[in-house]
Amino acid sequence: MKPKNKFQQHILEISKRLPKITEPQKRWAYKHCFDHIGKRNAKGIITCLECGHSWQDNNSPLADAILGCKCPNCNTQLDIKTTRKRVFKEIEYFGIITTCGGFQVIRYFYISVYRKAGEQARYSCSEVVQRWLSPNGKEATIARLRGMSIMYYDLWNFGSKLEIRPYHRAHDIEPIHFYPRQRVIPEVRRNGFNGEYHDIHPLALFRSILTDNKAETLLKTGQTNLLRYIIRYSAKDINPYWNSIRICMRNGYIIEDGSIWCDYIDQLNFFGKDTNSPKYVCPDNLHKQHDLYMKKKEAYIERQQLEEKRQKARENEAKFKELKAKFFGISFTDGTIQVRVLESVNEFMEEGRAMHHCVFNGEYYLKENSLILSATIDGKRIETIEISLKTLKVVQSRGVCNKNTEYHDQIINLVNKNRRLIRKRMAA
Ligand SMILES: [Zn+2]
Repeated sequence: MKPKNKFQQHILEISKRLPKITEPQKRWAYKHCFDHIGKRNAKGIITCLECGHSWQDNNSPLADAILGCKCPNCNTQLDIKTTRKRVFKEIEYFGIITTCGGFQVIRYFYISVYRKAGEQARYSCSEVVQRWLSPNGKEATIARLRGMSIMYYDLWNFGSKLEIRPYHRAHDIEPIHFYPRQRVIPEVRRNGFNGEYHDIHPLALFRSILTDNKAETLLKTGQTNLLRYIIRYSAKDINPYWNSIRICMRNGYIIEDGSIWCDYIDQLNFFGKDTNSPKYVCPDNLHKQHDLYMKKKEAYIERQQLEEKRQKARENEAKFKELKAKFFGISFTDGTIQVRVLESVNEFMEEGRAMHHCVFNGEYYLKENSLILSATIDGKRIETIEISLKTLKVVQSRGVCNKNTEYHDQIINLVNKNRRLIRKRMAA
């Protein structure tokens, strides 16, 4: 792709000054980015897949598997694998952090190794992506073309040139290692970078401290857990928390977990606590305080829901009475089980809550053709019964969580025997 503007043109121009990856850099990458394999066969002969040398091994296979061993020929520390596999192929990404013409540059190399028993390992390395950052955070990407594959978006076309390309997620590479000798532009250092990445991708860290002075402040004051959280969840707006964050910084309080702390500040706001007070925003035990408020909020929501239900019950009480008052007072027993008609919507609510079924939420109190009764033994609820007012038959009788109890048949018999009590009221 041709550069579209002066900025891209300039970057393409100076990118030609970047030196090729050096032999020591390649050697370092090959050594650290891959496991090195010694292939052990059933007779205990080990073949070094780095140099092709083989020798008789005297250790047990288990000791080899745990300790590995050193090749007596090329001196490479080897992982010993007992296998009949002959060919081993691996690919990785390797990164170099450097500068060029006043820009911060992160270079990504696609490296691969092909190993075959009895042969010297063959390594290869090809630069595929460069991410360029100006001192004020303006970005450009230079990359090879990607191959046309539906399955693999990072299949590179190695015949294509390194050119200015529009951003694609394939350019967001997480290499297994960055080369330890690194160069950064003075602006990155000025904005707080001291060589530590705090488990943040270098590009994301540089970009944030070059473009966002809040990120710069967090890095400089050691609030790296919060910074990492904000960078990883780029949708998180930090502005509503900024006053509380400043209280933390003023009090030398380091936030140990960004996500939990932001959540905790939300909870404080919910309960109207002072989020400018160090007493609240700098807790000694963040996780404990967070859990405490979480439980508090759950209890609050539960109370809220209960209140809504009570309100609903109150609203429906009159309508329910109009429909079912003529059945109030019906109750009967066989000496063990007491059965009685529920006489208020509030009772439906209590029954539903105690029995964990939907007699209240399903609004059974408003169903014209159904009558609900509760069966108890010594005051303890056993099952809830629905009778059809059309047929006077038991439609359902259910215990806790809709399960039948051992009294199920006994309850149904008892209800059937007393159907006339209901029929009488209907006639009245
Ligand atoms: Zn060797």
